[in-house]
Amino acid sequence: MAGKIPRNFIDDLLARTDIVELIDSKVGLKKAGKDYQACCPFHNEKSPSFTVSQDKQFYHCFGCGANGNAISFVMEYDKLEFVDAIEELASILNLDVPREQGSSNGPERTAEQKRSDYDLMLHSARFYQHQLKHHANSATVIDYVKGRGLSGETVKKFMIGYAPSEWEGLCLQLGRNKEQKEQLVELKLASEKTPGRQFDFFRDRLMFPIRDKRGRVIAFGGRVMQADQGPKYLNSPETRIFHKGFELYGLYEAKQAHKKLDHVLIVEGYMDVVALSEQGIEYAVAALGTATTAEHMHTLFRTTDRVICCYDGDRAGRDAAWRALENALPYLNDGKALQFVFLPDGEDPDSLVQKEGKEAFEQRLASADDFTKVLFNKLSQEIDLTTDAGKAKLLSAVLPLVEKIPSEFYQENLLEHLGRLIGRTKEQLNNRLKTPKQQHSIERKFKITPMRRAIGLLIQHPNLAHAVPYLPDLAQMNIAGIELLIRFLTSC
Ligand SMILES: [Zn+2]
Repeated sequence: MAGKIPRNFIDDLLARTDIVELIDSKVGLKKAGKDYQACCPFHNEKSPSFTVSQDKQFYHCFGCGANGNAISFVMEYDKLEFVDAIEELASILNLDVPREQGSSNGPERTAEQKRSDYDLMLHSARFYQHQLKHHANSATVIDYVKGRGLSGETVKKFMIGYAPSEWEGLCLQLGRNKEQKEQLVELKLASEKTPGRQFDFFRDRLMFPIRDKRGRVIAFGGRVMQADQGPKYLNSPETRIFHKGFELYGLYEAKQAHKKLDHVLIVEGYMDVVALSEQGIEYAVAALGTATTAEHMHTLFRTTDRVICCYDGDRAGRDAAWRALENALPYLNDGKALQFVFLPDGEDPDSLVQKEGKEAFEQRLASADDFTKVLFNKLSQEIDLTTDAGKAKLLSAVLPLVEKIPSEFYQENLLEHLGRLIGRTKEQLNNRLKTPKQQHSIERKFKITPMRRAIGLLIQHPNLAHAVPYLPDLAQMNIAGIELLIRFLTSC
């Protein structure tokens, strides 16, 4: 049998799941002040008394008293058992559920430890904020920040701070005992080259706290302020509360700034996000020292209908755009738009928005290229379309990409375009498409548990009832759906 699901995994799952998105996808929520509301899915009512809190990641019904977190919602709403609910939530995030081997496998993290991790991150952020104003280097740092065009308001909004130049700034302040020192090392705020000797991981850098969707500080990005002082950007390595491929810098702040995000702009660096916000463009996010992953795209398309990727026009920028495009295809449902903006040579969003201002910059976004254009530009650049061999090559390059897209509208669009390039009709091309995604999306919506499968089989083949051995204890088994199964068995 499969082993226990590690506690850490369940904690992570809850941290990565947004209960507002989850319930909204099933029930449909309306924003009401700080919280969200709907008519309760668990009792009959005409005016909404069911509320969901983004901050607390909790739902509560004032009518029937139903309440809980994302896991209990899925259990109640989808009538799933605990383990199946975990599987369901994990599948939404494209995660495999790990199982423990043997009885105990390393120390488990308690909720208390976890809280203290977030506390320590927050205290560190506050420490860096304090240093920005009070460290001996403060004047130089503040000059630098002003030179980058940032106001005090933006610095505060993004909780920007300064990591002191000393080897033991943070360590002395927040590593008062052995346990605290170990925790600093575990959260990668400190390093330990020789046992027992900890020193600060970030030194003499401008600090950008990275917050999760609940606004909790989970990591930092540090930027040097002068050239030749090590790598320009230094990010927290992955820790037990920080998973790079999932988090986007600025997403929390963008969500805070808007009731509903009509579009989100993906840029490359923290400085870009912050500089754009300074100019009133409060919907930019940055991947954290990685390419834009499929998980990023998934998160973004659950948040907004239009994602605009902003890259340099050079080779590296084009490559990054291509990776983002490939990763986004599986999330292009009807009504979702993916667009690209390529900046002039030598410019980044930070420099450009300061030079030309908000309106001109947003004009660029308004005339962004649709992903279709970027896709065909890239592929036909590499292929000679005057030959049959080239046309065949384009066909075999495009079809697998089209198959990844769930929207039939976009599929047909791409096929039409492809057909024009290689002299085939849309219908001819359509016949060559495999569409496993349709199957896939049904499974996504409806978790097939063993019980559901058993009931389904019985409905289709009532004869099978004879093959079920007589089990007197069947009714006592505590499995969701057992009553329905027994009713079918008896009537079959
Ligand atoms: Zn209720």
